[in-house]
Amino acid sequence: MAKRTKKRGINFVAILFALVLGACAGFACLTYFTLPETEELYVGEELFYSQNETSVSADPIAFNNEQFSVHFLELGNKYTGDCTYIKFGDVDILIDCGSKSNSVATVSNYLNQYVTDNTLEYVIVTHAHTDHYAGFAATKNSIFDLYDCPFIIDFGAGTNKSSTDKTYANYIKNRDKEINNLNAEYFDASTVEKGTPKIIKINAHLQFEILYNDFAATHSASSENDYSVCTLFTFDNKQFLFTGDLENEKGGEEKLVENNKSIQNLESIELFKAGHHGSKTSTSDILLKNIHPKRVCVCCCAGSSEYTKEINNQFPTKAFIDRVTKYTTEIYVTTLCVDYKDNQFSSFNGNIVVFATLNVEKVNVVCSHDSTPLTQTDWYLNRAWGTKEN
Ligand SMILES: [Zn+2]
Repeated sequence: MAKRTKKRGINFVAILFALVLGACAGFACLTYFTLPETEELYVGEELFYSQNETSVSADPIAFNNEQFSVHFLELGNKYTGDCTYIKFGDVDILIDCGSKSNSVATVSNYLNQYVTDNTLEYVIVTHAHTDHYAGFAATKNSIFDLYDCPFIIDFGAGTNKSSTDKTYANYIKNRDKEINNLNAEYFDASTVEKGTPKIIKINAHLQFEILYNDFAATHSASSENDYSVCTLFTFDNKQFLFTGDLENEKGGEEKLVENNKSIQNLESIELFKAGHHGSKTSTSDILLKNIHPKRVCVCCCAGSSEYTKEINNQFPTKAFIDRVTKYTTEIYVTTLCVDYKDNQFSSFNGNIVVFATLNVEKVNVVCSHDSTPLTQTDWYLNRAWGTKEN
């Protein structure tokens, strides 16, 4: 009798377990199938965390192993900075982690939705400015402390920073500790030779090329921006370009095109991360006419007086927008400055996710806050262009 009761108990538990499992699988399928296939890909805020929270919902977009995604992250503060996360299957890549060391909490909350093994297979640090590398240079709980980073690529000798610079010294200390502890691979992007691109093949569908940057190779830049590590990702037959804060004021972008066949005369690329946060001195005509981007994403706190009071020159600048819109009106911006002095900011498009699927032509964009492209927003249309802030 006791045996029968036990048996019934097991059956009941088994049925209950099966029901729960079925419901979960159903929900997972629903989430998976509705997102990528729908024309209207707007995803409401509920799937993400809003700007001033550090907690995240348990429902990130469910990417499958055939989907390649690029995420431009908000940083949890009013400061402009870059952080780009790239995912394909169980390969996780991080390019930069600005803007301040306290951004790490916001960034890691986001990453932990997707990184299942606590490993960032590739980490790329473009240049030695805090709005790009603060998260790696933090004295405690840096990205290197929180994740295993078995392959690190950075600007290396391409910098004018010296070991007396505290943030730089911290960065080098943290990086070298990670290299020693994990026996991690390290590549100094300033050693890429002209005419011999460094190509890292991740698998049959994904690779990236570290482009030759003349300023970096010759250690001749006056601004750290021009030392930026530039990478061209190729997924399937689609291309995605990241140039950090490289500028064209001293011909950096022009030389980049001139020295790298892989970005010359392209019919179109799927995505370009706006150079230097949409500054007027980057994303030049010479670069745009060679790459013809279908969409451009800007990592910045839009309309902030952090660097200037001239409204036209605040990120994203008027000159940048005017140049890009000759090629595409698909411009997205992460964060919006509400009141710089009062420390107020909110999401603009929010976290921007651009994703492609193997053997599918269409590339999709999903934003956590609002998917309206920049030039259609009230912010852009009502902006007091040509004036100066008090
Ligand atoms: Zn920057």
